[in-house]
Amino acid sequence: MKRSVSKSGEAFARATRVLVGGVNSPVRAFAAVGGTPPVIARAAGAHIFDVDGNDYVDYVGSYGPAILGHAHPDVVAAIASAAAAGTSYGAPTEAETLLAEEIVAALPSVEKVRFVSSGTEAVMTAVRLARGFTGRSKIVKFIGCYHGHSDALLVSAGSGALTLGMPSSPGVPAGATADTALVRYNDIETVERVFEEYPNEVAAVLIEPVVGNMGVVLPAAGFLRDLRDLCTQNGVLLIFDEVMTGFRVAYGGVQSIEKITPDLTTLGKIIGGGMPVGAIGGRAEIMDRLAPLGPVYQAGTLSGNPAAMAAGLATLRTIRKTPDFYAKLEAKSARLADGLKAAAAKAGVGPQTRINRVGSMMTVFFTPGPVTDFDSATASNTKAFAAYFQAMLEAGVYLPPSQYEAIFVSIAHTEADIQATMTAASAAFAAASR
Ligand code: PMP
Repeated sequence: MKRSVSKSGEAFARATRVLVGGVNSPVRAFAAVGGTPPVIARAAGAHIFDVDGNDYVDYVGSYGPAILGHAHPDVVAAIASAAAAGTSYGAPTEAETLLAEEIVAALPSVEKVRFVSSGTEAVMTAVRLARGFTGRSKIVKFIGCYHGHSDALLVSAGSGALTLGMPSSPGVPAGATADTALVRYNDIETVERVFEEYPNEVAAVLIEPVVGNMGVVLPAAGFLRDLRDLCTQNGVLLIFDEVMTGFRVAYGGVQSIEKITPDLTTLGKIIGGGMPVGAIGGRAEIMDRLAPLGPVYQAGTLSGNPAAMAAGLATLRTIRKTPDFYAKLEAKSARLADGLKAAAAKAGVGPQTRINRVGSMMTVFFTPGPVTDFDSATASNTKAFAAYFQAMLEAGVYLPPSQYEAIFVSIAHTEADIQATMTAASAAFAAASR
C-alpha cells in the first residue's frame, strides 16, 4: 500500500505561500530528486514521523547533529532545564566554559574556543582570523568542499586548472571571491602551484579533511600530511573544517585519526546537540587575535546561547559515558554499508555503484569509478539516484535528497532498522536500474 501523504501535501503547499520554496534551506525542497518533501511532525531515536503519521528510518539526522538519535532524554532534559532558567542573557555563563573545556580536551590542536551560532559563521570567522593573523589576503579552497554560505566561499572554478574563483551565486560581488583560489581535492600539486604563483600572499588553506559535501570523499593516503607540511613551509595556516566530521568520525575528529595538527578548526552540528551552534578553535596565539583581546572583530547576540550549550554538553557527555561508543557506531555503519552493497549486487547494479564511508558517514554513488574528487563525484548518474531515493522514501527510509550528501548513522539505529533499510534497498536499487 502506498503511504498517504495528503496532510504533508497540504502543509507543504501552505508553506510555499509564505516561505521561499516552502523551506528555510534549499536542499530540503527535493529539487534534485523531484516530488515534495514530507513535512515532519516529530522524531524519536532513529525515526522521524511526518504529519500523516508515516514512520521513516532516518539517515539525515539533521545533516549530522543527531549522533545520539533524536530527542535523547538527557539532551531534552538539559535543554528543558536551561530554558527554565532563561534562554539568553547576553552575558557569560558557566555552560560556555564547560562546553569549551570538553572541546579543548577532545582536540589537542585547540587551546581556545569562540562559540557562534552556525557552521557558516564559524568558517567565516576562521577565514577573517587567518587573514588578520597572517596579514595576508588569499585563501585556498578545494572544489566540491562546502564551508557555509559566506560570500568569499560561494565560489566556483573558472576555466583552467589554477584559477581565482568566480562567484557561484548572484549577489556575491566579484571582489568577494577574487582572493579565493580553487584547487582539486587529493591533488597536492594544485596547491603547490597556488603557493608558487602567490608567494607570501596566502593566509590559509581551508579543507574538509574528510569531505561530506560532494558526498563522502576520503583523503588519499598522505594527502593531509603533505598539505600540513606544505602549509608550514609557506607560513600558511591550515584550517580543518570539522563542522561535519568533528565528534562524528571520532571524538577528536579527523585530526585525531590522521594525527595532524591544524592551526584552526571549525566545528558545528554535534557540539550543539541539535541546537544552533558553531565554534572556531585553535592555538591560543592565533585565537587571542580575536576581539576583545585582539583586533580581529567578531561578535554575536546569541553566541554561547545557554540552551544550545546545554544541548551540546549533554550530547558530548553522553557520548563519553557510553562504553565503546565509536566502536558500536562503526559496527552498525559497517553492517549498513555491507547490506547496501549486497542489495546493490542482488539488484544487478553492484558494478554501477560505489560506497564511500568513514565511520558513520557514507554515500552510495551511482557511478562505476572510484570517487576521489569533485569531477569523479559529479560523474554520478543523478537520475538513478533520484529513482533510488524515491523508492527508499516510499519504503520508509529517509535519505538526504541529493546524490551529493552524506548519510548519517546514529547510535540509536537498531539491527531491525538496518534490516528494514536493506530490504528497502533491494527494491530501490532495482528501481534505479530501470
Ligand atoms: N562546513 C561544513 C563542512 C558543513 O558541512 C557545513 C554544513 N553542512 C557548514 C560548514 C555550514 O554549516 P551551517 O549549515 O551550520 O551554516
